[in-house]
Amino acid sequence: MLEVYPILCRVGRMDNYSYLIRDKASNISAIIDPSEAKPIIDKCQELGIAPQYILNTHHHYDHTDANLEIKEKYGAKVVGNIKDSSRIPGFDIGVEAGKSFMLGESKAEIIDASAHTQGHILWYFPQDKILFTGDTLFNLCVGGLFEGSVAEMFEALQKIKALPDDVVFYPGHEYTLYAARDALAYLPQSAALKNYILKAQQRLSQGLPVAPVSLGEEKQCNPYLMAATLADLTNLLQ
Ligand code: ZN
Ligand code: FE
Repeated sequence: MLEVYPILCRVGRMDNYSYLIRDKASNISAIIDPSEAKPIIDKCQELGIAPQYILNTHHHYDHTDANLEIKEKYGAKVVGNIKDSSRIPGFDIGVEAGKSFMLGESKAEIIDASAHTQGHILWYFPQDKILFTGDTLFNLCVGGLFEGSVAEMFEALQKIKALPDDVVFYPGHEYTLYAARDALAYLPQSAALKNYILKAQQRLSQGLPVAPVSLGEEKQCNPYLMAATLADLTNLLQ
């Protein structure tokens, strides 16, 4: 079983999420996308956890800035797409799309989602039905196309859509309320979307992340995920 602790970083600036995750059976743990060292170290201290791994989704600095500090403090190994070995700070272990990585007894499947960046990967833990989406899928929106095409983003979203509805996802940023306005403009009649936004506002007002949301719910409310064709997605991204 995998435990997930979201850690909000760069608060009020970029609102990144790093995640402390722990495989309960083995007590092996990792930080997903170390954005900022201080809040991550505080959370590790609070829980008495020393992470053995750093798992990166992509090379952008707001997801890797604390790699070296966390690596040095805990002796953690940095794991990322082998294709990003020269772009991810402190890189130690390469993984490949279509292959898997064991965090203790929890298996992560590596899914290629090149679009936001080339080499962006999703970390999918099928036993626990947990998906870390980095800057590919956010609540109610998707990441910008820095190094990829709309067609590549469409392909990445189809892979996410193919996963079971009861998978929950954890994104790389807290962008829900910004995305909500655009989503409402596209889906003004959607009761599901209104309910989604209400729940999001409640969670945020309690100091909680909007995540985790199930893919089933996201597929009903996220216009980018709902786009049925490449042409639909192209229209949304213009
Ligand atoms: Zn990014
Ligand atoms: Fe980012």
